[in-house]
Amino acid sequence: MTPYQLGPLLYEGKAKRIFQTDQPDLVAVEFKDDATAFNALKKAELKGKGILNCSISALLFEHLQRAGVPTHYLGVQGHHWMLVRPVRVIPIEVVIRNVAAGSLCKQMPIAAGTPLDPPLLDLYYKDDAYGDPLLSEARLERLSLVNGEQRRELEALARRVNAVLLDLFSGLGLQLVDFKLELGFTADGALVVADEISPDTCRLWDLDVVDAQERILDKDRFRQDLGGVIEAYGEVLKRVQGVIHGPSLYG
Ligand code: 5GP
Repeated sequence: MTPYQLGPLLYEGKAKRIFQTDQPDLVAVEFKDDATAFNALKKAELKGKGILNCSISALLFEHLQRAGVPTHYLGVQGHHWMLVRPVRVIPIEVVIRNVAAGSLCKQMPIAAGTPLDPPLLDLYYKDDAYGDPLLSEARLERLSLVNGEQRRELEALARRVNAVLLDLFSGLGLQLVDFKLELGFTADGALVVADEISPDTCRLWDLDVVDAQERILDKDRFRQDLGGVIEAYGEVLKRVQGVIHGPSLYG
């Protein structure tokens, strides 16, 4: 028995389905096994990915909340359901990069693996129809998605998330290379971290492995056809579970 009734589907994304519930302050997120990359040009079903990402994300949200970072997370139900607060997601993807990789190295003369200190913070306009383009200051202002104060709050929150996760992952022998966050406002106007934090949204390298492909424990294994995606996500979960107990059942 769940302490809520599932309501209608509100939104279906590439890796998750979001459902209304019979409680106004509760939304249910189902993590799917679907994997997509390159704006959904590449697709596959990876059995077990939904459960792994739900568990990893839940544990990371719980860790962040204990560190004082506000998130939409409330708990889990079953293996691939997460209960969250309803949030008006800001259509901005905040990417923090601690080490150069991915699109940064394709767009600029920076070698993959170059440490970035201080970490680089990039904002992208979240809209698949436009391919999630990088935002300039002027474009951000033109779109009026956030005011100056909200922008500062959003960036400060993302940098706090980075500091907490860098510390956590380095203790687990993992390099947090970069990650994408989505943030949003709750009904009472609080800014919180939303969406998910998982190997789908972070680059994580095994610090004990030198080989540039073998060390990858994130979605780049899928993007680059390296195989072993589920095994890599499983390794991340195993290490996170070694230090964070849970996740907590909702209700
Ligand atoms: P890049 O800009 O190199 O493509 O991505 C930087 C980081 O943000 C990577 O960890 C990547 O997984 C994450 N990221 C950026 N955009 C998206 C997105 O639309 N979906 C997901 N799942 N991750 C993203």
